[in-house]
Amino acid sequence: MAASVFLAKAGCSVQLFEKNEKLGKKLYITGKGRCNFTNACEEDDFLSHVVTNPRFLYSAFSGFTNRDAIQFFEDLGLRTKIERGNRAFPVSDHSSDVIKVLEQEMRSRGVTVCLHSQVTGLIAEPVPAGTAEMRQNPGEKKHRQKAAEQQITGVRLSDGTEAYADAVIVATGGLSYPSTGSTGDGYRFAEQLSIPVTACRPSLVPLLTAEAYIPQLQGLSLKNVTLTIRYGKKGKKTFSEFGEMLFTHQGISGPLVLSASAAIGASLHSSAQETLPAEIDLKPALSEEQLHARILREFEAGKNKAVKNVIASLLPAKMRPVIMELAGIVPEHPVHDITKEERQKLVDAIRHFPLTICGQGSYSEAVITQGGVSVKAIDPKTMESKTAAGLYFIGEVLDLDAVTGGFNLQIAWSTAHAAAEAIVNS
Ligand SMILES: Cc1cc2nc3c(=O)[nH]c(=O)nc-3n(C[C@H](O)[C@H](O)[C@H](O)COP(=O)(O)OP(=O)(O)OC[C@H]3O[C@@H](n4cnc5c(N)ncnc54)[C@H](O)[C@@H]3O)c2cc1C
Repeated sequence: MAASVFLAKAGCSVQLFEKNEKLGKKLYITGKGRCNFTNACEEDDFLSHVVTNPRFLYSAFSGFTNRDAIQFFEDLGLRTKIERGNRAFPVSDHSSDVIKVLEQEMRSRGVTVCLHSQVTGLIAEPVPAGTAEMRQNPGEKKHRQKAAEQQITGVRLSDGTEAYADAVIVATGGLSYPSTGSTGDGYRFAEQLSIPVTACRPSLVPLLTAEAYIPQLQGLSLKNVTLTIRYGKKGKKTFSEFGEMLFTHQGISGPLVLSASAAIGASLHSSAQETLPAEIDLKPALSEEQLHARILREFEAGKNKAVKNVIASLLPAKMRPVIMELAGIVPEHPVHDITKEERQKLVDAIRHFPLTICGQGSYSEAVITQGGVSVKAIDPKTMESKTAAGLYFIGEVLDLDAVTGGFNLQIAWSTAHAAAEAIVNS
């Protein structure tokens, strides 16, 4: 949608094919229905939030930054605001308003929107040898020579009709939330043309855990905790971040866990490691000594009370029986019976609450897809395929992904802009 606006603004005649009955179904559910459309962090800091292939994005992001995205939407008449964590939203808190301004602009600029129109393949034609030589600069690499061998001249639709164009942009998204229309068609288009696609997996997704005590904690959310996971070959790398998380019926979720999933996804999917050791520090603001002192203070004040009641001020109710079981403490025992060793075990269970990550949720609950059309096959300045002239890939279909906070939509806007500009310039 954004690419069609950029192109139509520059005077191009644009036709957009959407297989759904309406535009922007995925956009509609973003940011819990509020559409966190970008992140207003420092421009220099933006790429540090991109998990996969940040360097590829450098040129496209420089050409259309997060500030540009905010200005773009403001110019379309969308009033915007910045919230905690630099997250940018429409003032109305309605993602439908983001879709509305894009649609209005598309309509007023004359973009032809074809709904219920599923693209089933791309039309490729060999490029005549003479033209191939003209496209090739002496210093350019082999893939560029190959590029001139095929030219994409249009798309084929499911009803058998064909549409021809000077350029084709594939913006089919990834595989996550397939009910919104993203069912991986763009990967198939790439593969049909021998354009490499790296292995795909769900990301920004809840994690599954092996411990039998997790279902007891379902629904409990934790704020200000640190989650640490060892991953990578031989568990060498460590994800360790502070934030919010929650327990589900079969694992963990929430902002901290979604970020963790982006970091550890490849490790979980490699056959080498089927489970990853993890732990939660429930009191990261306190040093071990401070936590000991705090517990001693509580124990002094309630010497004759049952330990389960005395630690009530320290831990949420659902957590208490699990922690005491891990520490080997009988909850009904009076505090004066608790040994020094048991107290140490209590501190350990609070500081190193153990988890074993044994899998990830599915695409139906993943915010994004990791993997996709290999960036090695794409020109980072233009988003054009290096081997199929006139064919551009943008957005989530590419092997690019970022953490939550508006970064993934910015990837879509920036790559859309790069492709549109390149098409206009050609
Ligand atoms: C629940 C959820 C919340 C999210 N929240 C945020 C957020 O707040 N901020 C953020 O930055 N990111 C968020 N994301 C990620 C973000 O939505 C995506 O990264 C972004 O939408 C990708 O844009 P895209 O244009 O590449 O693909 P999509 O938005 O998936 O659009 C692809 C479109 O192509 C159509 N299509 C696919 N195949 C065909 C075909 N063969 N023929 C015709 N049409 C086809 C689809 O129907 C779809 O409309 C969220 C994702 C999810 C699932």
